[in-house]
Amino acid sequence: MTACSVPATVIDRIREIVGPGGYIDNSDDLAPYLEERRGRYFGAVPILVRPKTVNQVSNVVSVCAEAGTPIVPQGGNTGLMGGAVPHDTGSEILLSLTRLNCIRDIDPINNTITVEGGCVLSDVQSAAASVNRLFPLSLAAEGSCQIGGNLSTNAGGINVLRYGSARDLALGLEVVLPNGQVWDGLRRLRKDNTGYDLKQLFIGAEGTLGIITAAVLRLFPSPRETQTAFIAVQGIQEACDLLDQMQVRSNGMVDAFELISDTALDLVLTHMPQTANPLTNSHPWYVLTSLSASSQGQALKIALEETLSSAHELGNIHDAVVATSMEQGRALWRLRESIPEAERRDGASIKHDISVPISQIADFMAQAEASIQAEVARVRLVAFGHLGDGNIHFNLACPVGMDANKFLACGDDLNRVVNDIVSSFDGSISAEHGVGRSKRGEIRRHKSEIEMDIMERIKIAVDPNSLMNPGKVV
Ligand SMILES: Cc1cc2nc3c(=O)[nH]c(=O)nc-3n(C[C@H](O)[C@H](O)[C@H](O)COP(=O)(O)OP(=O)(O)OC[C@H]3O[C@@H](n4cnc5c(N)ncnc54)[C@H](O)[C@@H]3O)c2cc1C
Repeated sequence: MTACSVPATVIDRIREIVGPGGYIDNSDDLAPYLEERRGRYFGAVPILVRPKTVNQVSNVVSVCAEAGTPIVPQGGNTGLMGGAVPHDTGSEILLSLTRLNCIRDIDPINNTITVEGGCVLSDVQSAAASVNRLFPLSLAAEGSCQIGGNLSTNAGGINVLRYGSARDLALGLEVVLPNGQVWDGLRRLRKDNTGYDLKQLFIGAEGTLGIITAAVLRLFPSPRETQTAFIAVQGIQEACDLLDQMQVRSNGMVDAFELISDTALDLVLTHMPQTANPLTNSHPWYVLTSLSASSQGQALKIALEETLSSAHELGNIHDAVVATSMEQGRALWRLRESIPEAERRDGASIKHDISVPISQIADFMAQAEASIQAEVARVRLVAFGHLGDGNIHFNLACPVGMDANKFLACGDDLNRVVNDIVSSFDGSISAEHGVGRSKRGEIRRHKSEIEMDIMERIKIAVDPNSLMNPGKVV
């Protein structure tokens, strides 16, 4: 048990600010908030505070600033880099946005929604749908992750190809700064060139610069026609060519274009009940794609079928199934969304969330696969992800018959091999999951001194006493 070093007076003042129901301080109830979902990080805090209003957030942060007590902001705790989990020193407090979850405004004419930081992503999608609009951010954790967390990690998901990542979907932010001041930047404007774009500083900052308490988000017309297809492709280059053709023929209506390796599909079919290969035979690579339009008609269907037919004639695809109902489309997407859980059930795995230019994915994959096989023989490559964004989850599963701990002990070496190849393609070693605690050291090997220096100077300027999520990112 770690000794608590948050002064009792600070804890008392926090309890007073939020009142009963606004905090958790007994160890059994705290436990789920102190663990990263992959079980890699565990923390300790004397109190988890759950403010209900922005004013309460501001007052809690002011008390902590005065006392020099560090704060770890937490949303849905679905992040994969350990950013939302406190250290095990007991000297920080955890601040959960869960109760700050009002939808403040929806403006269908301006195509914006103003939401509080603790709103769960799927609730924001539903609120948008209720006024016949689409909020396009979508990821497998959408039933638990929160908008504040999505913005703080600049979440990607399946629709980045068409709509951009969380960063592209935000027009304005409200942020409680490390000294407790509230910055009201909730502008609903698409154009505002009045100096530095401050909101972008806080997006992707993983809670190290302030607490996002509300955001203005962009909405789009609801799709009225959707086409989904699961396609066996000849190889990765052919998959990239298919994407290009599909964009041209559909006039850029491709929402999502996901790559799935046979090994990844096999894990799903083995470990997840009620799943089946939608195609008759197995193939090395598959693509799952969805296209949508806000008008109804045959145009999308025709574009998809023509693309598939000409790719088949060229020998670029082997087989395909086009969903004929929403339910069938959802079943195809379940295959893709179940991969992380199937990996977890399968056992030890070493994960990489990388991106390279789309035109170089095939070369990257060939080089990286050869190099990791040379490092650990018979390692199983479980590659899948957002091919349309150049973002591949290049995951490595323990070779059959190898001791899991022995495999995991190769993690640092394998990470270096993969990350160095990523860098040689001018790629990113963390395309969408962020840095958190996991990659804090490794980013220094891949970002230039100038980049690290600017990041550190921004951190010092906004949070001079390093009270916001210390020990994460920078
Ligand atoms: C099954 C599964 C699938 C996933 N798929 C994707 C995917 O496709 N794309 C993707 O990008 N990610 C994905 N993720 C990762 C994760 O869901 C995202 O990173 C998500 O955006 C995190 O949101 P959260 O509310 O859970 O944040 P948390 O995990 O609680 O926090 C993440 C970081 O943000 C900070 N933070 C949280 N809330 C705030 C706030 N209000 N103000 C300031 N800082 C804050 C925390 O301190 C932490 O550093 C997936 C995760 C799972 C479990």
